[in-house]
Amino acid sequence: MNIFADNLKRLEDVAKLDNIKEEEIALLREPVKVNYSELAIGDKKYPAWRILYNRALGPGKGGIRFHPDVSEDEVQSLAFWMVLKNSLADIPYGGAKGGVKFNPKEADDKELEAVSRAYADAFYQELGQDKDVPAPDVYTNGRIMSWILDEFEKKVGHHEPGMITGKPLELGGIALRSDATAAGGYLVTKEAIKEILQDKKEVKIVVQGFGNAGLFMTEKLAADGYKVIAVSDSRGGIYNEAGLDVAALVTFKNSGKAVNEYSAGRAITNAELLELETDILVLAALENQITVENADNIKAKVIVELANGPIVYEADKILFNKKIVVVPDILANSGGVIVSYFEWAQNRTGQILAEDYLKNLLHKKMIVNWGRVYDKYKERSGSITLRQAAYSIAVQRILKAEKYRGRVAAK
Ligand code: NAD
Repeated sequence: MNIFADNLKRLEDVAKLDNIKEEEIALLREPVKVNYSELAIGDKKYPAWRILYNRALGPGKGGIRFHPDVSEDEVQSLAFWMVLKNSLADIPYGGAKGGVKFNPKEADDKELEAVSRAYADAFYQELGQDKDVPAPDVYTNGRIMSWILDEFEKKVGHHEPGMITGKPLELGGIALRSDATAAGGYLVTKEAIKEILQDKKEVKIVVQGFGNAGLFMTEKLAADGYKVIAVSDSRGGIYNEAGLDVAALVTFKNSGKAVNEYSAGRAITNAELLELETDILVLAALENQITVENADNIKAKVIVELANGPIVYEADKILFNKKIVVVPDILANSGGVIVSYFEWAQNRTGQILAEDYLKNLLHKKMIVNWGRVYDKYKERSGSITLRQAAYSIAVQRILKAEKYRGRVAAK
């Protein structure tokens, strides 16, 4: 499956919707620079990428993924989504992404550190606080960011904590970052419950993916009294129609077990979980989860994309015809990069801002961004999706910046 080809189709839809000229939309059809390297660790070689997709609004920004299925198509798609996400979030970044085709679950600490440092060695000339700023993504974390920062600083010979975000506090990180993606996703989910489900009383929730994004999101929704009936991780799901005891499940998961081993519920597959009867389905794992094969069987009323790209282009249409509302990734999961922006701004200025102030700022930004997307969606009285509304706002801001820079695509 070619994920990037799907993105181009979504871009064409927006160009048609907003009558965007060919030479303008062409600026967004390809990345500025694809950097590739093979990381040699002992006798193993791991393909690695850093792709800078666009820099009209500012330096590149986007996470690094370590996963055995990472490919150039995936990294380029993730970089493309970062461009739109940063634009929609109204933060001064272009978009980029990185990845290593490597399974950290099979590596010991020594190899994990070696891969992280080799990544910095391979790409340090492409990175920097004013060039391109990485962060964690799937199967990477603050520890990995620390090794990359340390290696980068050794290479360039000076301190530059703003070259990476999602760092531990001691290296210039920010407390809010750990659950920021979920915090932002939670705020827009509440808006969707209010506007789309008309503040329905007993809201049922299903969550796919129980990592950084999914686990914190589940905790926040459960703490608000919503009924979480199923969650899953890579090994499968657990279902309890009466509602799961989320606190107990989190303790169970944090003890190193898989959620489908939890006893107070019925073990189900990830495929079954997606098709459960529910009000909200939160997708917080990987791409391509809802496709033409299963879209017709989806019963959720609202889908929240905490993951990037979990729904394929053709499935979007099927869901739209079924009147299932999708809160798109570039809006729903933007809390992470918004807090990364706070971290970067603090690193650059040396000023430390109070956590409450930043929490409120995140809250305000998410609600404003939801409002802009939802207003546009309503303006077109249901003839477009929330995704198309979000893409339209994001693309227009980037193209305005490109215009001010005097840039048009080569014919
Ligand atoms: P993570 O590595 O912390 O967690 C991933 C989770 O997904 C794990 O629980 C894993 O077991 C599960 N998983 C993997 N394959 C699965 C499958 N086939 N079915 C069900 N579950 C599966 O990663 P994360 O940071 O939570 O990222 C999840 C998604 O959210 C990704 O798409 C990522 O790009 C996106 N995202 C994350 C952030 C962030 O700040 N962490 C920000 C924006 C977007």
